[in-house]
Amino acid sequence: MEQLVYESPRSVHELAYCLRNADQNTYLLSGGTDLVIKLRKLGVHAGRIIDMTRLEALNYIKIEDGCIRIGANTTFADISRNEELRRYATCLAEAAAQVGSQQIRNTARMAGNVANSSPRGDSIPALLALDAKAGILNGKGEITYKKMDELVVGIGKNTLQKDEAIVEFLIPCPDESHRSTFGKFGRESHRTSVVISHINIAAVIILDKQGTLVKSARVVIGSAAPVPYRAEAAEKALTDNAAGLARLNAFVDALQKHVIESIHGNKRYENKIDGIAGLGYSVYDRLFTSQPAGGAE
Ligand SMILES: Cc1cc2nc3c(=O)[nH]c(=O)nc-3n(C[C@H](O)[C@H](O)[C@H](O)COP(=O)(O)OP(=O)(O)OC[C@H]3O[C@@H](n4cnc5c(N)ncnc54)[C@H](O)[C@@H]3O)c2cc1C
Repeated sequence: MEQLVYESPRSVHELAYCLRNADQNTYLLSGGTDLVIKLRKLGVHAGRIIDMTRLEALNYIKIEDGCIRIGANTTFADISRNEELRRYATCLAEAAAQVGSQQIRNTARMAGNVANSSPRGDSIPALLALDAKAGILNGKGEITYKKMDELVVGIGKNTLQKDEAIVEFLIPCPDESHRSTFGKFGRESHRTSVVISHINIAAVIILDKQGTLVKSARVVIGSAAPVPYRAEAAEKALTDNAAGLARLNAFVDALQKHVIESIHGNKRYENKIDGIAGLGYSVYDRLFTSQPAGGAE
């Protein structure tokens, strides 16, 4: 008889044990905001569900050895409110605050967002801009770390194996003066009143001691291509350190060129070109004028 078996590990050790026998009919469940829809759509009535939400050991945000560690069982609501993230990984806290509605943020986890690997996922550009890694546990109990561009490789595609689960995220904690921000442009659903990204951007800059020159920048555009990508020309525009308006215009121009290249002349996506320009101006403003720099004191 077909049946859906439910497992609820309470420790990382138990999770590894559950993962040991995982196959193509095994599903990891976090907040369920994507998975439940997917299982309904596919008409899945049999298999194994491994529920990650009872794993209290994976519900944390902490700074350790110069890294911010976020456990896989941490909700977007907790990420959006965390003071340390707001200071050291502002773009991630801002992205988390813009995922769905409060109800979604109270249940959805970042691990599920990354594993779902949607081009519209809001956390992935922020994690890539922050040079984050995901800690991945396998059925043998081993943990390996992968950068976002090694993990998310296509629309709904990632390099996770069936016996693997994301257990945490690791973000290098900047010890220099830095700023970061996230912005998204999208269409509001009338039914749910949430904004799903039509295009989004995450940017991180490291400033010199005086807080004026940009030493390095990571700018990521999401939702324009199958996977979020580094906008290198836009990064260069920020680090060229031209005077104010020239730098702003060069930045926005570069962003638009990246998006034009990504959409390959598809008229359906032309509004992404205007969208990225609008986002470019507001992101620039938050990076250079309206945000206090965070970092080591
Ligand atoms: C109304 C609505 C609005 C939304 N708005 C947004 C939005 O604005 N921005 C946005 O980015 N997303 C949005 N989403 C999508 C969704 O909420 C996110 O993708 C969510 O973060 C998924 O996390 P979850 O905890 O619910 O994962 P689940 O649904 O439980 O799982 C999602 C996928 O990840 C796998 N998975 C879960 N946990 C792990 C793990 N630890 N390791 C490996 N694989 C795992 C599951 O097997 C499944 O394939 C919205 C969804 C809804 C329903």
